[in-house]
Amino acid sequence: MTERNRRVSPVPPDGMEIIFFYRCPHCGKHVPVPSPTEPRMLNCDSCGRAFPIIPVDEHGLHYVRAMLAGGKAAAAPDFL
Ligand SMILES: [Zn+2]
Repeated sequence: MTERNRRVSPVPPDGMEIIFFYRCPHCGKHVPVPSPTEPRMLNCDSCGRAFPIIPVDEHGLHYVRAMLAGGKAAAAPDFL
C-alpha cells in the first residue's frame, strides 16, 4: 500500500473565520466580507459599484473565537 492510498482519519477544524454580509445600497445584493475590522470601501461583486462599510467591533470577534477555541471547539461532538 502506498502512502497515497492510506486511509486518512477525518480532520477537525483548525482555525476559523467569521464572515459578515453587507447589503449593497445600489443593487441590494448581500456581499460577504471576512471580519472587516477597518472602515473601507467595498466593491459589490454583483453590480461592480463601490460603497463604504461600517467595520465590526474586534472585541466581538475575539469573544467568539475564544469561545470556540479558534474553531477547534466547534467540531461536532458526534464525530470526535
Ligand atoms: Zn451591487
